[in-house]
Amino acid sequence: MFDTILIANRGEIACRVMETARAMGVRSVAVYSDADRAARHVALADAAVHIGGPAPAESYLDGAKIIAAALESGAQAIHPGYGFLSENPDFVEAVEAAGLTFIGPSAKAIRAMGLKDAAKALMHEAGVPVVPGYHGEEQDPGVLAEKAGEIGYPVLIKAVAGGGGKGMRLVEDAKGFAEALDSAKAEAKTAFGNEAVLIEKYIQQPRHIEVQVFGDGQSAVHLFERDCSLQRRHQKVIEEAPAPGMTPEVREAMGAAAVRAAEAIGYAGAGTVEFIVDGSGGLRSDGFWFMEMNTRLQVEHPVTEEITGVDLVEWQLRVAAGEGLPKRQEELSIDGHAFEARLYAEDVPKGFLPATGRLRHLVFPEGARADTGVRAGDEISPHYDPMIAKLTTHGPTRAVALQRLGAALEATQVAGTVTNLAFLGALARHEGFGRGEVDTGLIARDLEALSAPPEVSDATVALAALASLGLLESGGPETGFALWQPLRRSVVLRREGEEVQAKVQSLSAEAHDVEVGDALVTARRVGGRWQLDGALAPEVAVTGDLVTVFAGYGIGFDILDPLERGEFAAGDASVIEAPMPGMVKAVFAEAGQEVAKGDRLAVLEAMKMEHSLLAPRDGVVAEVLAGAGSQVEAGAALIRLEEDAEAAA
Ligand code: ADP
Ligand code: ADP
Ligand code: MG
Repeated sequence: MFDTILIANRGEIACRVMETARAMGVRSVAVYSDADRAARHVALADAAVHIGGPAPAESYLDGAKIIAAALESGAQAIHPGYGFLSENPDFVEAVEAAGLTFIGPSAKAIRAMGLKDAAKALMHEAGVPVVPGYHGEEQDPGVLAEKAGEIGYPVLIKAVAGGGGKGMRLVEDAKGFAEALDSAKAEAKTAFGNEAVLIEKYIQQPRHIEVQVFGDGQSAVHLFERDCSLQRRHQKVIEEAPAPGMTPEVREAMGAAAVRAAEAIGYAGAGTVEFIVDGSGGLRSDGFWFMEMNTRLQVEHPVTEEITGVDLVEWQLRVAAGEGLPKRQEELSIDGHAFEARLYAEDVPKGFLPATGRLRHLVFPEGARADTGVRAGDEISPHYDPMIAKLTTHGPTRAVALQRLGAALEATQVAGTVTNLAFLGALARHEGFGRGEVDTGLIARDLEALSAPPEVSDATVALAALASLGLLESGGPETGFALWQPLRRSVVLRREGEEVQAKVQSLSAEAHDVEVGDALVTARRVGGRWQLDGALAPEVAVTGDLVTVFAGYGIGFDILDPLERGEFAAGDASVIEAPMPGMVKAVFAEAGQEVAKGDRLAVLEAMKMEHSLLAPRDGVVAEVLAGAGSQVEAGAALIRLEEDAEAAA
């Protein structure tokens, strides 16, 4: 076994590999870009080497720097993770030329599967069923259109170099072909620098079922299937294993085909053979076709680990170190069911817009496996994939595993950025998905309901207001309360550009009434736990000027300083009121004085801070109603300006 390996990756997968390495007594070396100096994967590693700027081309895609880092740190092998250099055969050759071991397949095997057209031809020869279509050399638009007609519409145009759903277009009929071809080629050119395409029959109600394979360079075994049909725009969202509705016969047929594919190219290490499956009826032994092979550890490998009890990274290290396959096919079996959900920083109602931001608070629930590359305080930067974590649950049956996934998503707490938690939660609770009716069109069909923005209840606003005032903590600033008159305070919160105001009336340290618009929410502490209108309150995190209520998958509000808001005296621009109870520290105005908008007229000391009260407009001071040193209630009039001549007219 190696004593040191270098992980040529970042984020959750780098951390994932290091955890197994550590468990095996193998030292790990991290590499990092400028953007990742303080990243979790760097903190987890036994040693770390800086390799360059934040752009992938300057760091995680710079094979020469990574190899130099491995040599310098005494590593004997390089684990590529997924993405970046993991499927780059030139990198594999350079690693080997440097006398190091690449933890993965040979350059030759990667090349054989690198282009979808060549891979399909190879698989066809090996007796693996491939999707009917044209994957020849000819790229002339006229010829391709003719081929599409022969295959029969609808067809799918795919970039031969494709990945991540890029360069792929569905064409319904001959009329739309030319335009779709142009745009597929243009996208493929930009994404992969290769505009060649192939044409495939579009499978109706398709399901994506893939088989995990593992080879030692000669023979291979499979670790059953994963169903990844829950996709948005050809990108996986929730994956599961085993596939719903799978029969022993079809599993046997698909597993055998996948093993044949791996053995045909002398595959070593972990790989995935992806099949497209006709989901319009039940699964059939003649109803699946080879799509592509991913020659690396796959993002969704944890579901396979959960149902087989195999640590795939351990197997990768052992096989790369020269051991044979750790288990024979007969020794592998399925235990229960597992789901994985990909948690991203993205704004779902705004069209799944990737988001960035500092994770001010991050809690993963008990009862779920969380694979993550970030901790509370870390930044989701614009340089990389905005993935926050993968949440995986296991159960004895599909229903139990799915129930656990739903519960885990509800109990996940992220503050500081928007996330797709609500979307994932809605999927986990989707009735059709619950019944196992999965196909790649499910999300698109129900997109509106699945991506609806969360409802923000009055109780949520009330709770956020109380939290922002520090009133939820026991023994907080309000000790000594009983001596006071009931306190009234106003809180202004902002969510998605809209301001909401709440008025808090404190009756005791354990009882507050909160007005939110016309509604009144009562907050009472019973047995040490807060209740809102009698129902147990969700958890809340206050982090700086952000308060996040963990109802509806995390509802965040900015806490606005009421005194900084221009419209504070909006009700009557002639009266300057105390926005909260406090002590008038100083008054700078006297009757008859001319003031200009923005002039500081008084200072109020409240909530342990001094707040300046500014003139809301130009005018003349009519009267000063409170002197320095006086204690005032929220809403008390402090200074009145003379009627605005123009406004009065
Ligand atoms: P899976 O998600 O099942 O692993 P995909 O084909 O969706 O398979 O792509 C996964 C890998 O390819 C990931 O490692 C990801 O980092 C990388 N990848 C996917 N899409 C892109 C993209 N648009 N640009 C660069 N890398 C990508
Ligand atoms: P990528 O390399 O981008 O992952 P794939 O060839 O694996 O491309 O296809 C991605 C997704 O597109 C599949 O998971 C499936 O949802 C859909 N798809 C691919 N081929 C077909 C097909 N022939 N018919 C219907 N859907 C398909
Ligand atoms: Mg794919």
